[in-house]
Amino acid sequence: MTKVIQIEDDFSVLDEAAKSLSQGGLVAFPTETVYGLGANALDPEAVANIFVAKGRPQDNPLIVHISDQSMLSQVVSHVPPAAEKLMEAFWPGPLTIILEKSETIPVSVTAGLSTVGVRMPSHPVALALIEKSGVPVAAPSANLSGSPSTTRASHVIHDLTGRVDYIIDGGACEVGLESTVLDMTGKIPQILRPGGVSLEALQAVLGQVMYEPALKDSREVPKSPGMKYRHYAPRGELYLVEKKHEDKLRQMLSDYRAQGKKTGVLCCGAKQYEADVLLNCGKTAKAYANALFDALRHMDDMGAEVIFAELPCDEGGIVPALMNRMLKASGGYVLAEDVTIKVERL
Ligand code: AMP
Ligand code: MG
Repeated sequence: MTKVIQIEDDFSVLDEAAKSLSQGGLVAFPTETVYGLGANALDPEAVANIFVAKGRPQDNPLIVHISDQSMLSQVVSHVPPAAEKLMEAFWPGPLTIILEKSETIPVSVTAGLSTVGVRMPSHPVALALIEKSGVPVAAPSANLSGSPSTTRASHVIHDLTGRVDYIIDGGACEVGLESTVLDMTGKIPQILRPGGVSLEALQAVLGQVMYEPALKDSREVPKSPGMKYRHYAPRGELYLVEKKHEDKLRQMLSDYRAQGKKTGVLCCGAKQYEADVLLNCGKTAKAYANALFDALRHMDDMGAEVIFAELPCDEGGIVPALMNRMLKASGGYVLAEDVTIKVERL
């Protein structure tokens, strides 16, 4: 049985879920990035249940969430000075730092790796839940594996009812895309997954930071196990559209509709297209990032069979993270002049 808990100002309603978490239960909770599906990171059985509930591949490690830096010694073997600087600058917030793991963290959390991803979320409900549970909390995104991540409690209820003990409803997530994953175990810090903290912001604190080569070149094997999987995908076919190809998009919409296909478009700002489902995802990349997963799920609800998503026009900040998720969701299909080309890039 899954219990849904609505949360407003009184955090004492979190007590029973926190207790369940510390005793091996599964609790889905809001963070500022996306909803997380939490288990006690020190309990191998509870951690194994996360993989079952999500249908997550066993080789995809989990991020460990903490509410206070005093929990770090239970998670990592040591904190190098550069990582300390990052924690000071970006925690609590959407940055996951990869460090050498402590002996107390079971290998099921890290999928056999000697390193572990650790993050302190900034969402007050996430912080309160972890603090009340008294343990570090392993939590991947609270969606069924392969589906778009969950950014509203309704998404979690849809995917995980009957599979988890509690779902905490804390409203819509602020960022809407997952955390930046930064590997601090090599010579040069590497971004394994772009996210809520940008490359520029990291460089301002650390100096040299680079994207992991596999993010830009599909021939490289990704260092972050999770990045090799199909992710975030709606059920319909998804094509990305650059602004200059708006006319081509109108043509394709009319062709598909003539074939009797149900069509959908995700727009950057208010636009008019002859589509069955038209969603305005906002003018800025920040708004688009917040709306993306909700919009993809809405397309599924409406039964859209062919979906077109306009690409954001701005640059920097959240854009690489947004592009990364859109490319993964579409399988790399971007609409060009006469053909649909498959590209693999950030
Ligand atoms: P999710 O929990 O669904 O947001 O996915 C977590 C992401 O962090 C996945 O892409 C993982 O592969 C990545 N990750 C977690 N721990 C590690 C680690 N120790 N080394 C590399 N990547 C990691
Ligand atoms: Mg995920």
